[in-house]
Amino acid sequence: MSNFLGEVRVSVPPTSIISSVTLMECEGLTLQKSMNFREEPHAVFLVLSRDDGTYKEEIRDGLLVLEGHDSVGAEGGGAGADQMLQYAGGKLTENGKFFKAAQEYEGRVREPLNVQVYEKLDAGACFDKGLFDLVGAERTKEEGRTVFKFFLRPCGDEYVAGTLKQERMLSAMEKQQIWSRTHGRCEGCGAQENLRFVDEQLVCMKDRGEGSGMLG
Ligand SMILES: [Zn+2]
Repeated sequence: MSNFLGEVRVSVPPTSIISSVTLMECEGLTLQKSMNFREEPHAVFLVLSRDDGTYKEEIRDGLLVLEGHDSVGAEGGGAGADQMLQYAGGKLTENGKFFKAAQEYEGRVREPLNVQVYEKLDAGACFDKGLFDLVGAERTKEEGRTVFKFFLRPCGDEYVAGTLKQERMLSAMEKQQIWSRTHGRCEGCGAQENLRFVDEQLVCMKDRGEGSGMLG
């Protein structure tokens, strides 16, 4: 729980980095699709890099903004084509399902969809960005094509202030750059366990002096 000063007094896990294997087991998903719509226990959004190494992610007014998925398959999709809300037969795409949930929330006919977000660090590791509420969506044009943007508000008291918040809202691209520079090891001692991104470094629990106010 946090008080009005934003101090945090809850136990938090020693790291938010999980292996891709653990992620798949916990969520019951493969890592093929970026967007996985589910009501229970939550939807899952994987933040993946584009072909050019950038990520479909930005922070806007304290909200995490994630881009929808490109269409695949026989209907003429792909990275250069318009993103779609539904297939030719009328079935909703994942974009469509998230978009509908966001509109229903904005129209006050439902509670926000809970979305668990993970950021891919490399083929074997992901960052657990935590739970968000889906609070909005928009259709926009980028480079001449239609794309969808989804607006997510962080939830979870332990992640709304202090170092954990900074780590959580650090962009996927910055995390990936730090991860690749350090080869997934603590920059103090080389450990590969219990790591966190702190002040643009990757640091283990021992080297960050856990318990000495890192959350303050
Ligand atoms: Zn260390």
